[in-house]
Amino acid sequence: MYVIFLGAPGAGKGTQAGIVAQKLGLAHVATGDLFRQAVAKGTELGLKVQSYLKEGKLVPDDVTVKMLLERIAAPDCRAGVILDGFPRTLEQARALDKALADLGKTIDRVIYVNVAEDELLRRLSSRWICRACQAPYNAVNSPPAVKGKCDRCGGELYQRPDDTPETVKKRLQVYFAETAPLIDYYKRQGKLAEVAGEGDMAGIGQRIIAALKEAVHR
Ligand code: AMP
Repeated sequence: MYVIFLGAPGAGKGTQAGIVAQKLGLAHVATGDLFRQAVAKGTELGLKVQSYLKEGKLVPDDVTVKMLLERIAAPDCRAGVILDGFPRTLEQARALDKALADLGKTIDRVIYVNVAEDELLRRLSSRWICRACQAPYNAVNSPPAVKGKCDRCGGELYQRPDDTPETVKKRLQVYFAETAPLIDYYKRQGKLAEVAGEGDMAGIGQRIIAALKEAVHR
């Protein structure tokens, strides 16, 4: 099963993708996490992409698509994958469709997590991430049990350098210009399920699982 979680930065895609992937036994592949890990390790890829992340711009499609296709070819992705933060442009979406078609596979469902813009801004400014395992927290909606510490692995929590007000503004602009057109792209393919991303976390998760089950039974 190949599933895409689509939505603006701060929509809660990462949090829900992590929970749903674990429940359904799917791999959770987040291109933002992969880039941040490469930057932290100082790899060749990390050096190439760090300025894009810092400025809230998209990494070029060729670099992103290559990294993503290599990642989803790994053995842990065999049972299926939730893609979080990919695709983000029409070119990436078309490249993914083609690569999957070459393997005789297809995207089964696209979950569009819809959240109002003022709520996105509020969430991004209170977001904390685990430095070790990337688990996301929110000081308002989903705080860790112990302040500054990851519930999952005990790692240190930090605020992403691209969650500053200026970079957040840029990332939202990029989202509306480059990524939002994908909503129509997948709607036309009959794969889009829109899920309200506000309200309590468990309820959002239940709506997502229901939308995925519907896809399986189609
Ligand atoms: P995210 O963690 O999904 O908010 O991504 C953080 C940053 O990584 C973005 O602002 C981009 O610079 C880069 N990035 C992540 N995914 C993609 C993608 N699919 N295409 C291009 N750049 C990406």
